[in-house]
Formats: sequence, structure tokens, C-alpha cells
Amino acid sequence: MNDAKQKIDELKKQIRSWDYQYYVLDNPSVEDSEYDAAMRELKNLETEHPDLITSDSPTRRVAGTPLREFKPVRHRVPLLSLDNTFSLEELQDFDRRIHAADHNPQYETELKIDGLSIALIYENGELINAATRGDGSVGEDVTANVRTIRSIPLRLNHPWPRLEVRGEIYMPKRSFLHLNRTREENGEKVFANPRNAAAGSLRQLDPSVTAGRDLSAFFYEILYLEGAEIQAQNEKITFLKEAGLPVNPHSKLCGSIAEVWQTCGRFHDMRHDLPYDIDGVVVKLNRVSAQHELGDTSRSPRWAIAYKFPPEEKETKFLQMELNVGRTGIVAPTAVLEPVLLAGTIVSRASLHNFDYIREKDLRIGDTVLLHKAGDVIPEILRPLPEKRCGTEQIIPLPDHCPSCGGPVVREEGEVAFRCENIDCPSRLKESLRFFASREAMDIDGLGPAVIELLLRHDLIHSIADLYRLKILQLTSLDRMGEKSARNLLNAIEESRHRNLSRLITAMGIRHVGARTALLLCRRFPTMDAFLTATAEEFRNVEDIGPVMAESIVHFFASPRNRELIEHLRQLGLNMVEALPEGTDDSLSGRTFVLTGTLSSMTRQEAGERIQSKGGKVSGSVSRKTSFVVAGEDAGSKLTKARELGVRILNEAEFQRLLNGETF
Ligand code: NAD
Repeated sequence: MNDAKQKIDELKKQIRSWDYQYYVLDNPSVEDSEYDAAMRELKNLETEHPDLITSDSPTRRVAGTPLREFKPVRHRVPLLSLDNTFSLEELQDFDRRIHAADHNPQYETELKIDGLSIALIYENGELINAATRGDGSVGEDVTANVRTIRSIPLRLNHPWPRLEVRGEIYMPKRSFLHLNRTREENGEKVFANPRNAAAGSLRQLDPSVTAGRDLSAFFYEILYLEGAEIQAQNEKITFLKEAGLPVNPHSKLCGSIAEVWQTCGRFHDMRHDLPYDIDGVVVKLNRVSAQHELGDTSRSPRWAIAYKFPPEEKETKFLQMELNVGRTGIVAPTAVLEPVLLAGTIVSRASLHNFDYIREKDLRIGDTVLLHKAGDVIPEILRPLPEKRCGTEQIIPLPDHCPSCGGPVVREEGEVAFRCENIDCPSRLKESLRFFASREAMDIDGLGPAVIELLLRHDLIHSIADLYRLKILQLTSLDRMGEKSARNLLNAIEESRHRNLSRLITAMGIRHVGARTALLLCRRFPTMDAFLTATAEEFRNVEDIGPVMAESIVHFFASPRNRELIEHLRQLGLNMVEALPEGTDDSLSGRTFVLTGTLSSMTRQEAGERIQSKGGKVSGSVSRKTSFVVAGEDAGSKLTKARELGVRILNEAEFQRLLNGETF
């Protein structure tokens, strides 16, 4: 008995510390399977010794703690977790318990999206609040951040007096891959899975950081509804879809637990083909009245359960290590592996992120390692298997020179990465050129990694500007470069001289500035000269640009080396102006409007659409960043706030004049 108490206490302490890492810091310290095994052991011990159960046990409560930096939101209906199952037998046990409330149950099976829970409140059809799950009772107010997620409607198709819904915010696999790659290039810590990436992206104090991340959502639950009644789980999905909310298309109504099991298998098989990661299937009793009858425990509903997919892991050999130097100079270690089939593809390499990671895992060259795919896409070494060591494995030393140019490498305080400091290092130049020519940047057809390598090897280019100085004879003298390919390449380079400024800004590789941000910036700063003279304050005035980004942009343009490159590109005839697509009326671009009160000549929705059609943005709340508050009849608190903050107020007639092209 004493032993059991001691073990229970140990497990509780361990799980609480893992929970902190996972839910508060969005940075798990162990694998989910290890966490789930500890939770299961705790549950079993508590079943054997019910007198040792305490109300604060992780088996009794929803894990998670809202961050104090966000305004707390008390949920009207608690946002619970789900009980887990891992086998058919456990699903059958669940089915037996369900029969107590429903003799002929039907089950709605839904994909278990690997994201984070979100609760939205719509009043009269308008989004007024968004909150995370937090500890289940109190979540974090993330309304400003959720407003930047384009798939979440700010207005529903019908103005129900009040509708509260629950869903999952997720990051698509490709975006997760891209985000981690960029973070690695910048020497930042990578996210362990799409769920942590989604949580870390949403729980940002600066909404512009959220706006720059690609987040999306699916909704599956109605927490509160005034003005309609829903009888079944599958009807909830239809209702949410008709309301205009994104729902997942893959749910299935099953007549028996055998059919549920079959569906779990089918969903598992399609896992790798989905553009987002799922970690299981959620099985829900369909009839809502029976759901109410069964009710909830303090942690999870009794009428639903999650079937978790078994972890996909493979053993393989860590054959050798490769070091690559990225465009920011970071020395990135990669493991070369014995090829192995894992989650649908052959894997032969895995990023080792940085040297702290190698040391923490005690990875050695020659080790047998356990491999999985983070978020179902990124191959990752989980751990070495030391029991399989034979003594010839080699400990990996810290780098003391750049593997590309041989120059010194440094590790700045507080950084995990080692960087080559030589700005002219050929590897850094190679990566900068690769990025410059890429699809999302200058889109230079035919200038792939192999050609860049060839140009560098033959000393034909020493900087990005040299691309625009290449001559046909230089190219045709290269091996494997015929006259036709050389001409095509020169034409593609020539064509890129005329790209819009936003592409050139993207291609410069300014930290935190991706293609979308570059477009936003160029609407407000349509010439390179405008960029060169703007202040951080002016960049911050652009909607969606926060202080971190603004500083990074100013820092970039202040560098004499970068200014010199821009000057060379200008002399070489590159376009440095942003041209808008023909016919675009962009007169309100960069301006944010708040609409309040009733307008007599149009509805608020129409007014919003007209603003957006001219490049403006409509926001639900007044802040110092608001450009205009349009006040109709009976305008309320937003008008008062605008006066307090000194925001320009327009009456309806003035607003009409503004729409007709007058400047204010
Ligand atoms: P959970 O993720 O196992 O399941 C509940 C969640 O599923 C809900 O909160 C909801 O957000 C989500 N969900 C996705 N699709 C859904 C759908 N269609 N219907 C209903 N819900 C849906 O439970 P949890 O409490 O959020 O997290 C516990 C799990 O998190 C553990 O089992 C473990 O795998 C992981 N975890 C890991 C660590 C670690 O250190 N590795 C720490 C804490 C938690």
C-alpha cells in the first residue's frame, strides 16, 4: 500500500512536470507514447487503490494552465479532454458502458485532428470571442489572433442570438515542415509536432506573428445555442457547416462498434495522404439526449472516446553525419541513415537540429536508432538504442571550424546554433542564391541547386548581383550546359529583373519576412526607396506587422552590405517598384476601419465588403492602430473609445465620399 502511494505520488509529479512543458511552454520533453504509458500506469494504480485517488490527480482533471499574459475567459461549458483507447477490446468496453444509456447506439466517428482546442462565441452572427481550452474551466482570450485565421468566419451565415462552438486549430503538414525548416535556418528551436506548432503560433502576444503562420481550423461541437435545437452528433456537423464554419469532411456514422473499428482502420490508412496530421479517431455517441444522460466526469465526457493510432516507429542505423551551412551561417547537422520505409516513404536522412540536441540524446555515429515522423512528415530520431552498441560508435565532437570555408565558427550566448561568421562563405552564398531563385521569391526557372553549385564551382558568381552579369559564353563553357539550356537560363534571369518589388523583398531573406508579409509591406511602401527610408514605427503602422518584424526589417536595411547589394541590383536594372494588378483600386490599402451604429444607405456587411474591395481592412475593435471609425446612427461604446484614443471618426456622408475616392 505504501509502495503504491509512493509510486502514485511519483507518477503525479512526473506527469505534472511533463504537462507544464507541453501545455505552458508548447515544448514537450518526452514522447506522447511515454506520457500515455505513465498516465495509464497511474490510472491502473488508482483503480486498484481507489482510496488513494485525489481530486487534483492528472487522471481527474484537464491538464493545462492558462498563461497570465492573456485575459482569462471562463468557459460557460467546460472544455473537457477525452479518454483514450488503444485497442478493439477497449472500444468494446466503451460500447458496453454506452449500452446503459442507449440500447441501440449509433456512433459518429470523426478524425482526431492533431491541433489545439478553441472555443468561439458568436453573437448575432458576429465573432466576439475566441478562447483556448486552458485548464478546461478558464482559457486564454486569443480573439485578436484568431481573427487573423482566414478560414474562421468573422460573420456567420445566420445571426443566431448566441452560438458557442468548439473546434480544433491546426497547422497543415506542409506549413509545419516549412515553419520548422525556417526556424532551423534561423537557429530557433523547432516544434515537436503540428499541435505544439499550432499552440505556439496561436498563443502569441503579437497577433502579427500568428498572422504570419499558416493556421486553419475544423469545428465539431456546439457548446451553446440559442434559437435552434440539435438532436444528433452528425447533425451538429451539418449545422456548423451550414453556419459557414469549416468542418472536416471525413466523419462517418456507424451502426456498431465493429463498424467503428473498421472505420478506424480506414482512417488510419488514409492518414498519410491527408494534408494535416491526425493522431486517432474520436468516437461519439450520436444521440444527444443519450449524451446528456451519460454526462461527463471531471476530465472527459462518458459518451465519447478517442482511439489513438499506434505510434509508427522503425529501427535503423545512423551511418554518418553531414554538416551543412545555411544562408544565415548556421551549421546544421544531418544524420545519414540506412534507408528504411516509414509512414509511407523511404527515409534516409534526418535533421539533428543542433549540437545540444545531439548531446541531450547522446547520439553516436554507428548507433542503432529509433526513428519516427514528427507530425507524420518530418523524419526524426527519437533516441539511440544503447543496448545495441558494439563499442565502435563514435561520439560527435562540437564543430570548431566551418565545414565549407574552413573559417571559425562561433556560438553566441543564449543561442543553440554554431554559426560560420564569414559572410563570403560559399555555402552561405549557395543557400542565399537558392532562396533568391526559389518559386516564392524571384522564381528563376532553371536556377536550381545543381546549376548554382556549377556556377560557384567555376567561380562565375561571387554575389547575388553577379547572376545578372552572366554572359552566354561563360555558361556554354560549363560541362553539361548546352547552348539551349544556357539561353533559357539567361532568359529566365532576364525575366526576373522585372518581377514585382514584393518578390525582391521576399528574395532578400529578411528574418521573419515571408512572401505574404512582403506583399502587405509593398502595398504601403511601393518603392525600394520607401523601404530604405522608413522607420520601425512606420513599419509597425502596417496592419499585421508587429514590433519584432519591424525591428528586423529596419535592421536589414541599415546594413551597409545589404544597401550595397540593393544599389548594385538597381544599377543592373532590377525593378524596384510594386505594380498592382491592373484595375485594382487599392486606395484604402493599409487602412483599418471599425464600423459602429446603423448606416442608412447600406448594411454593415456591405460597408465592410466595399472597404475590403479597395484594399482596406475591417476590425471589430478600436485601437490606436485604427485609421477610421465609421459611425452610423446609435453608435455606442466604439465611438466613445475612438474619441478617447483620438481616432478619426467619419459620419456616413464622409464615408461615402471616401469610398468615391476623396482623400481624408
Ligand atoms: P487528447 O489530445 O488525447 O484528446 C482530447 C483533445 O482532442 C480535445 O481537447 C480536442 O482538442 C482534440 N480533438 C481533435 N479532434 C477532435 C474531435 N473531432 N472531437 C473532439 N475532440 C477532438 O487529450 P488532451 O488532454 O488534449 O492531451 C492529452 C494528450 O496529449 C496525451 O494523451 C498525450 O498524448 C499528449 N501529451 C503529451 C505530453 C508530452 O509531454 N509528450 C504532455 C501532455 C500531453
